[in-house]
Amino acid sequence: MGNGIAAALLLSAAALAGCGAEPAPAPPPPTPAGGAPAAPAAYPLDTCPVSGEKLGSMGDPVVVKHGDVEVRLCCRGCLKAFDADPAKYAAMVTAARK
Ligand SMILES: [Zn+2]
Repeated sequence: MGNGIAAALLLSAAALAGCGAEPAPAPPPPTPAGGAPAAPAAYPLDTCPVSGEKLGSMGDPVVVKHGDVEVRLCCRGCLKAFDADPAKYAAMVTAARK
């Protein structure tokens, strides 16, 4: 009858634990694995910061990056001017975002 006593002890222990025990804390939400690309913000300009031409008016915009800032140029001809002073044109995009 040892088994019966052990079972009774287990049951009462479980009842005691169930009575006063705090609910287990919820596990922390899973953190997204690093490296997931952030959703790109909408591009704030519809014109080329170099020429002021409407993007797309000369064909597909030329997309370049200066650091984290995406800059869209109306044509490859503007790439030269962009390369000469990328910070200036990146700043124009950043300013338009605000
Ligand atoms: Zn252009």
